[in-house]
Amino acid sequence: MVNNGFKTTIHDSLFIIQIYMDCIFCKIGKKEVSSDILYEDDGVMVFKDAQPSAPVHYLIIPKEHIQSIAHLEGNHRDVLAKIIYKAKESAEKLNLKGYKLVFNVGREGGQVIDHLHLHLLGGWAKEEDVGAMPGPGLDK
Ligand code: 5GP
Ligand code: ZN
Repeated sequence: MVNNGFKTTIHDSLFIIQIYMDCIFCKIGKKEVSSDILYEDDGVMVFKDAQPSAPVHYLIIPKEHIQSIAHLEGNHRDVLAKIIYKAKESAEKLNLKGYKLVFNVGREGGQVIDHLHLHLLGGWAKEEDVGAMPGPGLDK
């Protein structure tokens, strides 16, 4: 029983390490993959979305690997507050008068990258374009 518990712990740890090593946003956070960075500090990074869904489209990520909003734990409250506040500061820096902040959560919520990120979207010139913004598609 003790051995079994030990094996499970090692297996879980290796599994988690593998996720970190494969995660594209962890790699962007460590600058192993390049991105167009607007802001970074020890805990957070703001970079341009590679395939923008709006004239201005940035992603705000924690450097720590958290899978999604659904995987938040109590000790992540400060990280989450920081991400949202950083989105507000980024919007000011980008001179956005209005904007959308979007968390996609899980496949059914349109999440493709399994590393928590907040979409900062804006820069539309016409009112009708704001509503025409693409939304997530459901799994078939
Ligand atoms: P999700 O659908 O998971 O909420 O959004 C993931 C976003 O990440 C998409 O808007 C996609 O364009 C963006 N993205 C995916 N891979 C990369 C990448 O390697 N670099 C950058 N800058 N953005 C990426
Ligand atoms: Zn990650």
